[in-house]
Amino acid sequence: MRLPESSAGFDPMQLARPEIRALTPYASARSLAGSSGILLNANESPFAPPIESDSSLNRYPDPQPETLKNRLAEIYRVEPDRLLITRGSDEGIDLLTRVFCRPNQDRVLICPPCFGMYALSARVQGAGVVESNLIEEQGEFALNPDIQQHALDCRLTFLCSPNNPTGNLISLDRIESLAQSQLPQGGLVIVDEAYIEFAPDNSALALQRILPNLVILRTLSKAHALAGCRIGVVIANPKIIELLRRIIAPYPLPTPTVEIALPVLSDDALNIQQQQLTELSEQKQRLLAALESHPQVRQTWPGAANFVLIRVDDAKRLIQSAGDAGIRLRDQSAQPGLDNCVRITIGSKVETTALIEFLETLNPS
Ligand code: PMP
Repeated sequence: MRLPESSAGFDPMQLARPEIRALTPYASARSLAGSSGILLNANESPFAPPIESDSSLNRYPDPQPETLKNRLAEIYRVEPDRLLITRGSDEGIDLLTRVFCRPNQDRVLICPPCFGMYALSARVQGAGVVESNLIEEQGEFALNPDIQQHALDCRLTFLCSPNNPTGNLISLDRIESLAQSQLPQGGLVIVDEAYIEFAPDNSALALQRILPNLVILRTLSKAHALAGCRIGVVIANPKIIELLRRIIAPYPLPTPTVEIALPVLSDDALNIQQQQLTELSEQKQRLLAALESHPQVRQTWPGAANFVLIRVDDAKRLIQSAGDAGIRLRDQSAQPGLDNCVRITIGSKVETTALIEFLETLNPS
């Protein structure tokens, strides 16, 4: 892979809001002096809290714990200085928007139907939201050809692959050409890979070697089964990481969260994760078989992630009756082009059996 010529002039520092460029980041006690010795520099309690715990919970945590960062870097096969660990990808999305979008001036591009936090973070920041709706081709969602043109007016372009809620992948060629065309005016292309472990051959991460304006978001919330821990990762050019670090909270990662994440990323745990992915894929096939022959299901998008999207005759009714049976499904009808569409997460074998049995009780409408 060769670096495109237009990458030479790309400087994330010039792209950042002037306020962020001028900012002297808050220097926390831990980042200034580390955590060894007699710690009288952070107004912490010298006492352990009165509970059973081996952790130093009276002390502030490392802002970016080295061991966790190194392990994530090893798993993602990137240098540790390309990573920022955040409170879920939600925080990564928010930091990117706050660093790069000037209120009432800059815009972000999104590709609905998509995850709602891209537009929400933009609106909170006072940035404009430009939409390039996905198009449906032969039963598959894909990027709209107009995206290239819209992206030229936008600081940030949010892509998601596999996409939530449609499950489609975005081809690496499309990502590469989009990011390349954004280089001259310095726009960032952000690929949210929250579900990429379910389709691991499709990651755009390797393209970062030739595209310094490509940012990848990962999370431990999905395939790593750690949604409760709130750990996301921004993977980007070290200059972008440095800018995001300027505005992240001083101590974003709670000690218990970090202590739990480490063993979940061990080789043994990753082997178990592979078995879980196989199990989910089997349950997905079972569910799809039930959905595809169901009289109320008009269309099914299997997608590449741990959910499927379906269109039914009456989404509200389905969600209501599933709810009455104790099964929670997610209505997607408010998204463009997804009227009467419902997203169903793939659960365990027992949960899938319960869902299939519920579906069998429904009468044709
Ligand atoms: N991106 C996508 C596409 C998602 O679906 C989600 C969660 N539903 C997130 C990001 C946020 O994940 P996290 O738990 O890491 O904040």
